[in-house]
Amino acid sequence: MLNALTVDVEDWYHICELEDIFPPSQWDEYEDRVSIGLEKLLDILKKKKVKATFFILGYVAQRNPQVVKSIKRDGHEIATHGYGHIQVYRQTREGFRRDLRKSIKIIEGISRSKIIGYRAPEWSIRKDTYWALDILKEEGLRYDSSILKVKLIGEPTVARYPHKVKTKKGEILEFPPTIMRTFMGNMPIATGWGLRFGIWWDIKRTIRNLNKEKVPALFCFHPWEFDLEHPKVRLPFWRNFVHYTKIKSTSYKLHKLLEEFEFGPIREVLRIG
Ligand SMILES: [Zn+2]
Repeated sequence: MLNALTVDVEDWYHICELEDIFPPSQWDEYEDRVSIGLEKLLDILKKKKVKATFFILGYVAQRNPQVVKSIKRDGHEIATHGYGHIQVYRQTREGFRRDLRKSIKIIEGISRSKIIGYRAPEWSIRKDTYWALDILKEEGLRYDSSILKVKLIGEPTVARYPHKVKTKKGEILEFPPTIMRTFMGNMPIATGWGLRFGIWWDIKRTIRNLNKEKVPALFCFHPWEFDLEHPKVRLPFWRNFVHYTKIKSTSYKLHKLLEEFEFGPIREVLRIG
């Protein structure tokens, strides 16, 4: 059973809601380190002969086009993470459309491949921003992977498997990241702190159970999780926890996932042409 492996291609200073610490107007001045983690990640995937979907931030592609070329060179799927890394619920509809179009123009211009997938910064499509799915469909995208079935940070009512969502312009596919059900509620084990804190045995059992039901799992990594030397800054407590805690365990988790299960890019898992 093929599961989905995804990467959000952003740099160490792309942390949502911290415009006072990392103002977008100064991004060009920060050290460009995205390739360091990215090359390590690409190397692991090449050795394991696994392809993934890379949701590239338009800003990163613009600043460092080689990023897009390296991903394309290795035969992975290229998708978009938007341009400016602002959560959808902090954007207007028109602002969201502009941000999306800008990212697609830049990334397609470099990669010469058609983008069909989108992922929002910080899983920020929820009930109050479902209008974003209408815009994604209108702009020609075939699938979205931005809705996290977790209370407080996501949308707990979303289905936990890939499904079609009706929009004003027809259906779009939604592929939510894998969660684990616990007595405390759903745990986001597919990415970030949830993945780092998740016990391997629990993660493995969750994927096994999903695959038994013919449901593919979906996991997500970031290049900065493979660049342990990236500058650490003082962040508010919650952000610090989400960003840095147990960061070293990310690489171990990726290796375990690739050893035990089969992974591929989303368009292959969902069999989209
Ligand atoms: Zn992101």
